[in-house]
Amino acid sequence: MQRLPSDAKRKKRLDQLRPFFPMSNPFKIFILSPHIDDAAFGLALTISKCANNNIPVTIINCFTITKWTAIAVENKEIDAVSLLRKNEDAAFYKALNSNINIINLDLLDAPLRNGYIFQEQHFKQNELKLVEELKKLLQLHVDGLLLCPLGIGNHIDHAICREAVVQVYKNMNVLFYEDLPYANRITSSQIATHLKELEERLQVQLSSHIDGLHNCTIDKEQAIRVYKSQVNDEICSEIIAHLTAVSGERLWGEAEVIKELRGILD
Ligand SMILES: [Zn+2]
Repeated sequence: MQRLPSDAKRKKRLDQLRPFFPMSNPFKIFILSPHIDDAAFGLALTISKCANNNIPVTIINCFTITKWTAIAVENKEIDAVSLLRKNEDAAFYKALNSNINIINLDLLDAPLRNGYIFQEQHFKQNELKLVEELKKLLQLHVDGLLLCPLGIGNHIDHAICREAVVQVYKNMNVLFYEDLPYANRITSSQIATHLKELEERLQVQLSSHIDGLHNCTIDKEQAIRVYKSQVNDEICSEIIAHLTAVSGERLWGEAEVIKELRGILD
């Protein structure tokens, strides 16, 4: 009599045979943006190309309750700054002239939540709770390609987003984008080390896709200047320096998933 493999063995086999999930039809893109500007800073040109190709894009802004600004603003109250940033975001996507869906989760950002910005220790209890909440939300609502920040720069809000995606990675099609301006503040070998650690964590091989500067219908610098409260000259030049250095916007993921995106955008 043939014996069935044990649960553990069967599970291991299934993991090895992990299929690439059929992409939703029509193709949809979801972008996990820790803060209101992260999707635009990292992916403005990519999002614009999606808009030009009529690909539905949903932006999931997570930590949208905030009083953080890069420049002095008239009213520094939490309500006023949160609203100002949401308005800047709406203006950015409206300028792309497309039906882009924005979801604001209205979670407190790091300075309001725990009082620090950069992660220097393992996740605290309330941060792990946020990871769980985000995981549930992603599993319930994402039925397309998910773009997630790499977590370069160690910002705790970016780390929480990435951790949630890492934990559901096996059930989704995911590509990672470079956090800006942070990715411009480290060397390419430090970026390579960051990616190596992620590959080990996910047990996959990641390759890069650069969404190049051809066929761009917007100017990235001009476009991200819409986030007036978040962009000073220094931040703007860092973002553009990175764009120039890698000749576009760089995404990382498994070859099969990259192929799907290329097929849609090329
Ligand atoms: Zn951010």
